[in-house]
Amino acid sequence: MNTGRALVLFSAGQDSATCLAWALNRFASIETIGFDYGQRHGVELTQRPVVLAGVAAIKPAWRERLGADHVAEMRGFGALAQSALTAGGDLTEAKRGLPASFVPGRNLAFLSYAAAHAWLREIDVLVTGVCETDYAGYPDCRQGTIDAMAAALSLGLDRPMTIATPLMRLSKAETWALARQEGGEALVSLIRTDTHTCYAGVRETLQPWGYGCGACPACILRRAGWEAYAAQADGEGAPA
Ligand code: ZN
Repeated sequence: MNTGRALVLFSAGQDSATCLAWALNRFASIETIGFDYGQRHGVELTQRPVVLAGVAAIKPAWRERLGADHVAEMRGFGALAQSALTAGGDLTEAKRGLPASFVPGRNLAFLSYAAAHAWLREIDVLVTGVCETDYAGYPDCRQGTIDAMAAALSLGLDRPMTIATPLMRLSKAETWALARQEGGEALVSLIRTDTHTCYAGVRETLQPWGYGCGACPACILRRAGWEAYAAQADGEGAPA
């Protein structure tokens, strides 16, 4: 029986949708929070109600457990921490050895906002789709950062705050496999067609791995992960 409550950091992308399903199978009630930090494209904000409704429709128990959704306005932060994701710019260009898409402190800020909201809602668990396997270039996605952040939040809020990271050690192919494990083909299909990952905000042609420009770093990663997952699923005789 599921117990407890969790707040899922939900961006309507592949990773956070998978985390949402993971959380819905483990907690009695779930709330979601997203962030408007001045992303170059608003696609992920317009897709969030679509993905949330789609997830709720997959299992009656999920519909019961899925509670309020919140979007925190963080444009001031986005303006301060300008990167290629929030301003114009070449997404393939590296800066100080980090991808141009790196928004400095983004996950630290997201977790702080989420924790403040969780505290008010008396929720002690945050769930986030950060992953150090594929995004090794993002220092705020690493396990050490998350451990330190959980310790800081727990001290600063004087209440134990847990940060669950179900994708931390998974490859993108393993993340697709986790989606299938948690929500079956219905969830895989929903993630494929309704989640948004592309940095360029392109949603024109549906590719096997979903919508996107196919050329930005996020699309390249998503496509490679899907292809590895589909090859493996084929080998197991499951539909890809
Ligand atoms: Zn793209």
